[in-house]
Amino acid sequence: MDLLEYMGKQVFAKYGIPVSDGRICSTPDEAEQAAKEIGGQVVVKAQVQVGGRGKAGGIQLANSPDEARQHAEKILGMDIKGHVVERVWVERSTDIAKEYYASILLDRREGRPLAMCSAQGGVDIEEVADKDPDAIKRIHIDPLVGIKPFHARYLTSGLDDEAKEGAQAVFKQLFEAFLDGDASLVEINPLVLTTDGRVHALDAKVSVDDNAIYRHDDYKEYRDILTTDPQEKIAKEKSIAYLKLDGEVGVMGNGAGLVMSTLDLVQLAGGKAANFLDVGGGASGEQIAAGLEIVLSDPKVRSVLVNIFGGIVRCDLVATGILDALTRVELKVPMVVRLDGTNAEAGRKILEEANVDGVTSVPTMWEAAQTAVEKARG
Ligand code: GDP
Ligand code: MG
Repeated sequence: MDLLEYMGKQVFAKYGIPVSDGRICSTPDEAEQAAKEIGGQVVVKAQVQVGGRGKAGGIQLANSPDEARQHAEKILGMDIKGHVVERVWVERSTDIAKEYYASILLDRREGRPLAMCSAQGGVDIEEVADKDPDAIKRIHIDPLVGIKPFHARYLTSGLDDEAKEGAQAVFKQLFEAFLDGDASLVEINPLVLTTDGRVHALDAKVSVDDNAIYRHDDYKEYRDILTTDPQEKIAKEKSIAYLKLDGEVGVMGNGAGLVMSTLDLVQLAGGKAANFLDVGGGASGEQIAAGLEIVLSDPKVRSVLVNIFGGIVRCDLVATGILDALTRVELKVPMVVRLDGTNAEAGRKILEEANVDGVTSVPTMWEAAQTAVEKARG
């Protein structure tokens, strides 16, 4: 998960990295108010999960609250490389003397974190790496040893003398943020030297490991903000693999391979799947119910195809899970169920006996796909 700049700065602040005082705003009114509270010159910054906002016009200096409001009006709703701006970060403006670059990322080939620093910041680091590779100091850090003063001295050796001490402190804190924060990348571009001699993070890019989100309460909050699709939101909470597609047949299965072949069969039968949803090979009845709720809550879905192979999971439990889900969500569209594998007969029997309106049980995958596509049509 890539955090927005303001989230990254909150992470940085937790580890003591100097950042500017700021407020997150989603309306021009809020931006005006934020500028009033901060006082003096502020900078209004588009919050999108993509770099190069400055060049795209998504970063503007404002000398008054009124000006901050005008900039926010322009920036909110702006499209930056396919990302629509929904929030701006308004922060106290910094007087910049020099712009540097600092980052730590996971170097998978080496199996270690790689720290990088350059005296040329504020620009694309790829460009610096191309034209002047020696300008970037790089060093691998043993995670058990951590960042030591000699690492930090080497990394910052190309910076201006007045910035060295501050930048060395930042590297130590940045490494902590990286390791303790379960990040795969922490980047400050630019790390600046201010006109009054302080070293300060002006931008923040933090990518965190999705599998570690559960360990950080703040990341859970960020994930909720970053996931706007309601179905995806529930899926993430329940650890269900879900991807929205643009068709009309809702698909749910257990096991990624089975779900992918189900998507193929829906296509072959002349339909289009509305989603990919894998409840997992060993899904419980409860997990099945949660999956169904997700599929059924998508208004684009015209029919649902449930394809379960009872390997680890038993089909009778699946059938009970389906019936349980149907007591919680209204079945507004037809549903086709194919159960096979362990206790398949018992599962089918449970469904038949329950005799729920709109639910058809079909013995094979191909028939199930054809039936679901037909039902979606009419
Ligand atoms: P990016 O373009 O998405 O990487 O956004 P940044 O946050 O890195 O900002 C881009 C550029 O805007 C920086 O390199 C600075 O030159 C400029 N900038 C950002 N914040 C300030 C500020 O507080 N004061 C001034 N004078 N310039 C700023
Ligand atoms: Mg930047």
